[in-house]
Amino acid sequence: MSLVNVGTVAFDAIETPFGKTDKIIGGACTYISLAASYFTKQAKIVSVVGEDFPQETLDMFKAKDIITEGLQVKQGEKTFFWSGKYHNDMNSRDTIDTQLNVLENFDPVIPDSYQDCEYLMLGNLTPSLQLKVIESMEVRPKLIVLDTMNFWMEIAMPDLKKVIKEIGVLTINDEEARLLSGEYSLRKAARKILEMGPTTLIIKKGEHGALLFGGDKVFYAPALPLEEVFDPTGAGDTFPGGFIGHLASTGDLSWENMKNAIIMGSAMASFTVEKFGIERLRDLSMEEIADRINEFAELTNFSLEFPSKVK
Ligand code: AMP
Repeated sequence: MSLVNVGTVAFDAIETPFGKTDKIIGGACTYISLAASYFTKQAKIVSVVGEDFPQETLDMFKAKDIITEGLQVKQGEKTFFWSGKYHNDMNSRDTIDTQLNVLENFDPVIPDSYQDCEYLMLGNLTPSLQLKVIESMEVRPKLIVLDTMNFWMEIAMPDLKKVIKEIGVLTINDEEARLLSGEYSLRKAARKILEMGPTTLIIKKGEHGALLFGGDKVFYAPALPLEEVFDPTGAGDTFPGGFIGHLASTGDLSWENMKNAIIMGSAMASFTVEKFGIERLRDLSMEEIADRINEFAELTNFSLEFPSKVK
């Protein structure tokens, strides 16, 4: 099942209460593709970097069977750079710096070899570019998942609404769901957002898990309570990467399997936060992933016999 992932491949500099990094590898598409690579063969990247981007990371993608034909390398230009600092609670962060660099004139091109794509993951990016990618696909993919953020809601809402109309699954956080819908209740927000186009909505709630909405149905996946969250950067991208990776590998878009897919997304995101950047996500074994899934199953598994009424 072929999967195409679109989004940033970046340099990040991160500060958390546990420490500080220099420029490390980041970007939404990086996290998405790495997470998906554990489930699908030849996850394909569409992105752009500058000539300063390390060959070592391109080789790492290759070693992970991630295809980079659609990753443009712009000579004489610099890679997108983002820097953020987390507050003590690790739930909120401030963006310290965003340098668009190569992203400023990014024109995503879909190579011919990507045109058989059945699953399309549109990571956080300018909505007009996300729309362009959809329009560049000769055949409409079986599933399009879109991730976005409040930033685009504030400056490009009309374009964002156009792209939301075209997709199957939207993933946003609770604050963004409220902003997009104008509703505080997430249940009401979900109903309004589902009327905008997608058949399924995922509301990510960070350390409080994720909600899956479809039609009148709702399902909740917890986040694993970890002893230490080291660096939350990329968790919001790893999640949809694991989600779409699971759907692409099973080819099953039923409600029941969407439930499994958000557990998979949560499990993969729980690894990302354990170390800085992609350090933990990069080198997982299938056993570690299987063990983590079992931990999730245990977390909410209970057997309750409803007591008969006392007469
Ligand atoms: P997350 O922690 O999942 O929200 O995503 C963090 C990643 O998003 C970082 O690796 C950044 O490189 C990337 N990023 C930050 N700002 C933007 C932006 N405005 N557009 C696209 N990607 C971004």
